[in-house]
Amino acid sequence: MAEINETESTEKKGLNFVEQIVWDDLQAGKNGGRLNTRFPPEPNGYLHIGHAKAICMDFGVAEKFGGTCNLRFDDTNPVKEDVEYVDSIREDIHWLGFDWGNREYYASDYFPQLYDLAIRLIKEGKAYVDDQTSEEIAAQKGTPTVPGVESPYRNRSVEENLDLFQRMNAGEFDEGARVLRAKIDMASSNMHFRDPIMYRIIKHPHHRTGTTWKVYPMYDFAHGQSDFFEGVTHSICTLEFVPHRPLYEYFVKEIADDSYCPRQIEFNRLNLTYTVMSKRKLLQLVKEGLVAGWDDPRMPTISGMRRRGYTPESIRRFIDTIGYTKYEALNSVSLLEHAVRDDLNKKATRVMAVLNPVKVVITNYPEGQTETVEMDNNPEEEGSGTHKMPFSREIYIERDDFMENPPKKFFRLAPDSEVRLKGAYIIKCTGVHKDADGNIDEIYCTYDPESRSGMPGAARKVKGTLHWVSAEHAIDAEVRLYDRLFNVENPAAETERDFREMLNPDSLKVVKGVKIEPFIAENNERGRKFQFQRIGYFTPDYDSTAEKPVFNRTIALKDSWEKEQKKA
Ligand code: ATP
Ligand code: MG
Repeated sequence: MAEINETESTEKKGLNFVEQIVWDDLQAGKNGGRLNTRFPPEPNGYLHIGHAKAICMDFGVAEKFGGTCNLRFDDTNPVKEDVEYVDSIREDIHWLGFDWGNREYYASDYFPQLYDLAIRLIKEGKAYVDDQTSEEIAAQKGTPTVPGVESPYRNRSVEENLDLFQRMNAGEFDEGARVLRAKIDMASSNMHFRDPIMYRIIKHPHHRTGTTWKVYPMYDFAHGQSDFFEGVTHSICTLEFVPHRPLYEYFVKEIADDSYCPRQIEFNRLNLTYTVMSKRKLLQLVKEGLVAGWDDPRMPTISGMRRRGYTPESIRRFIDTIGYTKYEALNSVSLLEHAVRDDLNKKATRVMAVLNPVKVVITNYPEGQTETVEMDNNPEEEGSGTHKMPFSREIYIERDDFMENPPKKFFRLAPDSEVRLKGAYIIKCTGVHKDADGNIDEIYCTYDPESRSGMPGAARKVKGTLHWVSAEHAIDAEVRLYDRLFNVENPAAETERDFREMLNPDSLKVVKGVKIEPFIAENNERGRKFQFQRIGYFTPDYDSTAEKPVFNRTIALKDSWEKEQKKA
């Protein structure tokens, strides 16, 4: 099944350390040479870019070596879970470019087997019902250097334990009244071995199993066994599970044998600057209306990034770049943005839009005349063609592309100076008109009729080139400009402050009255990628309609932000 040539040296293969472990297992013929991974999200929130890193690993390694990857919803806590999340998770994984075929599973599918295993462990004297509160249990836990205290209920008879556990599941007791614990070792140097909780009582209905169960397995009692029931060979997760691994193995050994045993491998989480990755915090932002929803374009969620205009290719490229290690790190969001720019540069259609318009009247251009100019759709993409853009006597340019009293090196428009209108003529400023408050409301220019492409004066050089749109043909639009969601590099590290205090108040700027060329309005289907020339990459927002086009700025053309930070 493995595609990599066996004779190649290890280094030549360019494998990351997880792939290396998997490869070695395959070479050693473990699990009958099978490779099966899984991605195990809990459906208690939308996926974020950190999950994308796990998805790329779980699906990627299976793809690389001809194995399979399961999608398993880790739905062991009905209180926080919802089908809305299940649906969004499916959509996001597909969008990233991965597919689990018919291998969609749920931890809740294994509730019967897990329950049976719990019964067996009780019968074998390896589990007991504890009547203490969670506070009492926590107080007895000890510390890594001080052994824990054994529960007074630890030596109950098997009969009593069986009876109580079955009654727990029958709904006879309140939530928190009793738990089922594994009887392992209260003095273990691994805290997770100090009689971990296997089951707790939850009376909230489950989104798939309804009210069938009143006891629900804890992560540690569910995950390894679910892997086993499913035939997972390599259970790849993040570093915080390293201390859980002995317990994972402890429970799995109760059911596995030499012919097949799943194996847990851990890599470092993705942490990104200027955002948070905790689902609990992201949920809080959504619930409190601090963002417009899980797919708010400022969110680090996959759905937010999709809405903002990021491409799956750029996210995967970014994850490839940062790689997989055994050390926790904080990754710069600039690296992700670099990957986004790089990809959009190849894909985005070049168009013109004026965000802060001021009118220019070309006084020597015939009134009522319109001509069309031909614009390249994308000079970076061969065969991407051209589109037509109307030109007429009155146009809009950006207000800050004109200065009445310019400094020396101002290469844009100023009195008596010349600029080229991209794809069209050279114009020269002859005067301005001001409103009652002294603000310029019209700029007057003349044009050089010989300066258009294909004409004798086409090659004439001027210092600046401006983007523009024809006033008569322009369509009004709204654009939304996004900045970092937080104004602190690592909000999670600032434990003294509430993370909401660190939200960037300027993370969204709405600009109305933007003038766009007609071609944009005619082609603004969802997912379309545009480069508004000289401004940035934009995509239609979900709120966009034919009457009121709305665009998200995916990202500015250059990383001006980093520079500003350095200056400050
Ligand atoms: P929580 O368990 O606190 O609800 P979680 O982010 O761990 O949150 P899960 O749904 O359990 O959410 O995650 C599914 C998988 O994604 C797990 O295997 C987890 O290790 C992985 N994962 C989660 N966050 C990251 C991250 N920041 N970087 C890489 N992998 C991650
Ligand atoms: Mg988790």
